[in-house]
Amino acid sequence: MKNYILDKNFLKPFLRKVMKKERLIAPIEFNKDIIFDFIDEIDEITTNFTNSIISPKRFFFPQSDTILEYEKTSHVKVQPIVSYERRVIFGIRSCDVYGLLNLDKFYSLGYEDIYYLQRRENVTLINLVCSDPCENGFCIYAKSGPKAEVGFDLQFTDLGDKYFVEVGSVKGEELIKIAELFFSKIIEKDEERRFEVVLKSKSCFSHLYVDLQDAALKLKNNLVSENLWQELADRCQRCGGCNYVCPTCTCFDVVDKDIEGQRGRRVRLWDSCVLGGFTRLAGGYNPRSRIEDRVKRKFYHKLSYEIEKFQATSCVGCGRCTTVCLGNIDTASVVRRIVLGE
Ligand code: SF4
Ligand code: SF4
Repeated sequence: MKNYILDKNFLKPFLRKVMKKERLIAPIEFNKDIIFDFIDEIDEITTNFTNSIISPKRFFFPQSDTILEYEKTSHVKVQPIVSYERRVIFGIRSCDVYGLLNLDKFYSLGYEDIYYLQRRENVTLINLVCSDPCENGFCIYAKSGPKAEVGFDLQFTDLGDKYFVEVGSVKGEELIKIAELFFSKIIEKDEERRFEVVLKSKSCFSHLYVDLQDAALKLKNNLVSENLWQELADRCQRCGGCNYVCPTCTCFDVVDKDIEGQRGRRVRLWDSCVLGGFTRLAGGYNPRSRIEDRVKRKFYHKLSYEIEKFQATSCVGCGRCTTVCLGNIDTASVVRRIVLGE
């Protein structure tokens, strides 16, 4: 695949061209936070951010998603609702690109989830390499950043007045063809500058060291004290925030809504494994009614069971759970405590 240079003066004209062909999603400022949203005006887009408060996974796995409508007449009519809209996400960070690779495995292993996979197929990802790490991120130790090695269609590295553009897929190459004149050839100096930018960014992570592998080993070998789960449970507010902001959390509930007579719609909603109702069964029995069991299971799932299933933890080190958790029960600090044997 080729590499190019895009002068920053051409970024907006390029994205305008993209908007004429596909729906554009990009980072914007909202109530002093950064979120990803659909773009109507190109000037809404910001590139001055570390990462968004919530991951862009909602464009693939929405918080509330009507998956089918049904009607019972002489027979039952079921109409699946699948999105085929073509979209481009500009500005996604490396950790979230790896988060999507994680979701890909979950939603295609054994059963192929058409609602997720169809959206995924129709989205082109333009990744922005992080020149400065975000406050709580530890992607470098989760091998998911600050620069992505796989998973992007185009990857932009900020070289000051221009972007170094890597093409990662045919979809990426097709996007460049929309506005080929804006892109120029790279020269050796550009490669060197890109290398320096990434190296400088990597060197800023040292204070955030998180040893996911060692924590996974300790969990697998049952070397973690039950007291730790009890203490974390005492501090957990059961808000579900950690799951909702996480780019790799996949759990959902399914409910029927707007039921009128013999018709209705089936909706998939985000769920959270730390909430009391998550494992409650019909009839009322709940195998994980105690919060300490739910917190414990959450970390076993993310850091240990996922290795057995997918050969990798399902934490990409985005640091969002550190930002949102009211009880400091974030993955980075829990991993540190597991490693220290507390
Ligand atoms: S964000 Fe923190 S307090 Fe809220 S459910 Fe998750 S662990 Fe508990
Ligand atoms: S567990 Fe926390 S740090 Fe890891 S990917 Fe999820 S939100 Fe990010």
